[in-house]
Amino acid sequence: MAKQKACKKCKTIFTGAKCPKCGSEEATDAFKGKIVMLNPEQSEISEKLKIKEKGEYAIRT
Ligand SMILES: [Zn+2]
Repeated sequence: MAKQKACKKCKTIFTGAKCPKCGSEEATDAFKGKIVMLNPEQSEISEKLKIKEKGEYAIRT
């Protein structure tokens, strides 16, 4: 199984060489947890993390 990484720019979790959302190759595997964003329009968390799209995102502490 491929290792999951988190994009440093948009926090999207992905596997592979670069972020499928923003195309950044800057990623870290040192994230502490993840959230699944289903309704970004209606979520306080998405406002805090500046997330506008559905998906899996990393949480760093
Ligand atoms: Zn990204």
